[in-house]
Amino acid sequence: MRDRFAEARYEVFSHARKMWEAGLVAGSSGNLSARVADDPSVIAMTPTSISYDEMAGNQIVIVDLLTGSSIESREAPSCELPMHRVIYRELPHVSAIVHTHSPFVTTLSILRRPLPPVIDEMLQAFGGTIEVADYAASATEDLGRNALRALGNRTAAILANHGNVCVGTSISAALNAAIAMEAAARIYLQSLQVGEPFVLRQS
Ligand SMILES: [Zn+2]
Repeated sequence: MRDRFAEARYEVFSHARKMWEAGLVAGSSGNLSARVADDPSVIAMTPTSISYDEMAGNQIVIVDLLTGSSIESREAPSCELPMHRVIYRELPHVSAIVHTHSPFVTTLSILRRPLPPVIDEMLQAFGGTIEVADYAASATEDLGRNALRALGNRTAAILANHGNVCVGTSISAALNAAIAMEAAARIYLQSLQVGEPFVLRQS
């Protein structure tokens, strides 16, 4: 039988591989989801507990955002589905969400230290400082609510003692934000070893 979600599954699968290849996630950590193009109340999401090197496109899970139930799927969705649902519900313009435990961003997250715009690229990509959300446990709606507050009108937030969440109007935009954020976090932390970095004026 033809899979009516094949395209959405492939989009999420291919970007999940890119996320893994970029070193932003290890094993089965982190997750990624995107709204299905012709039905924004449905998302395609990475499955729980399957490592990226063993993941197949047909294991991507389709979820109805209103009920939280999966549709025509073999696997269970990532345990961070509650966070994704809160963000999609409150931010209708968001089409995709990337959540990683990338090492330099996660270092900032345990310091609970925001990421200020220290390189020009960051001003263009994020508009200003990326804030740290209040701590909430994994797999809870509170994680999503706290992330929302920290996001404000930006496309990224740091999740305290956890990692980050990046949002975008496309799956590649959300992934590119996560890649840019990890590179900036690395540079920022390196500069802190030597002295006090200059922070650019933000809009
Ligand atoms: Zn996580």
